Amino acid sequence: MSFEDLNLHPLVLKAIQKSGYTTPTPIQQSAIPELISGTDVIASAQTGTGKTAAFMLPALHHLAEPSKIRSRGPRVLVLTPTRELAEQVSNAAKNYGKYLSRMNVISILGGMPYSLQNKLLSQPVDVLVATPGRLIDHIQRGHINFSRLQMLVLDEADRMLDMGFIADVEQIASVTPKNKQTVMFSATLNVAIEKIAERLLKSPKRIQIASQKERLNNIEQRLHYVDNLTHKNKLLDHVLRDETLKQAIVFTATKRDADLLADNLYARGHTAAALHGDMNQRERNRTLTRLRKGGLRILVATDVAARGIDISDITHVINFDLPKFAEDYVHRIGRTGRAGAAGIAVSFATHKDGLHLKRIERFTGHSIASHIVPGLEPSFKPNQRTNGFKKSTAPAHQKRKNSIAAYGKRQEFNPNFQRLSRASRSPSNKRSFKTNM
Ligand code: AMP
Repeated sequence: MSFEDLNLHPLVLKAIQKSGYTTPTPIQQSAIPELISGTDVIASAQTGTGKTAAFMLPALHHLAEPSKIRSRGPRVLVLTPTRELAEQVSNAAKNYGKYLSRMNVISILGGMPYSLQNKLLSQPVDVLVATPGRLIDHIQRGHINFSRLQMLVLDEADRMLDMGFIADVEQIASVTPKNKQTVMFSATLNVAIEKIAERLLKSPKRIQIASQKERLNNIEQRLHYVDNLTHKNKLLDHVLRDETLKQAIVFTATKRDADLLADNLYARGHTAAALHGDMNQRERNRTLTRLRKGGLRILVATDVAARGIDISDITHVINFDLPKFAEDYVHRIGRTGRAGAAGIAVSFATHKDGLHLKRIERFTGHSIASHIVPGLEPSFKPNQRTNGFKKSTAPAHQKRKNSIAAYGKRQEFNPNFQRLSRASRSPSNKRSFKTNM
């Protein structure tokens, strides 16, 4: 199938050709015809599958026809969980809509001055990309008229749910026209997401693209066992010296660790900078622009800040600290291997991470192969019975041999996993938005 077969408006098609895309991705092939025909859609697709164009191209196709309603309000509204993703969506809208006349794309994000946003909202708007909290503020101040809204897109709905934005999303949806088209994208379609879809979408067409497992096929996943922070830093240094590494994102557990590690790497001669939720929007944009333009080789980031980053030169993702939630592992490593390119995801695991690793492997359906760097072998080996790790008592010359043998075994079934898995599903263990990210 080619883009010509999708019956998109010629000016939208021209922009796609200019972008160098030749073939629609699977999500685009399935979603575009449905969205052109006006059907509501609920789709499960990860970032990196071309999902932004899957909703933005048909949205722009509709915008090529002038609205029959006289108003300045937005005709397409995209809600995203993070500012970074919103920036990317609005850049995509500007790029794909560049040949349409008088196409005005704006973003309304938290952390930006109200005065500027008021000015943007006072002009005619075609595509409005927003994070829910700030948009609610403007709605309550009476700054937005939704009378000509044709399409509402909920991008990364599962993430908006995790971050506690769904009440805001529903409130926003309630002040938009009943006859609009609604599109919902989510990395995973779980019960909670289905319930929201039931409330917000009308007889939606369901589209399910590549499973987690398939999506990760072009990413080589590696695991290094580490004894302590010093060992971790040495291994990180080793990975960063790989000549095939063009750009990398290193994930840490906290904002403070991201700052410390970025400073440390910088001091060791790497072009490195941190990206996390404590930075203001201008600082974040500056860092992302440096990364995008190749002026930065290593970005040290937390989960929330790095979500949605889409840069094709990111060859490596390094989990300096494993993510707390298995879903985040998939989001993290999805920053590499963009648009079909190959990528490498390296994870460091300490003796405390045994159960954690199992959870990730279970979620992705993929065992992560362990690697040893000669001279940087860990001094412990995984313990199958406890699914934790046991300090090796073997003499030094024996240690490496033991480690290699143990790594092969680590991926076997472990009965303790079931217990953790059930516990992790209990309500008290529900994930919440982490303020330290
Ligand atoms: P997304 O899943 O929307 O984050 O998109 C991931 C990447 O794929 C972005 O860099 C897009 O520019 C790129 N992309 C989207 N559609 C296509 C396509 N049909 N062919 C090639 N690249 C694409």
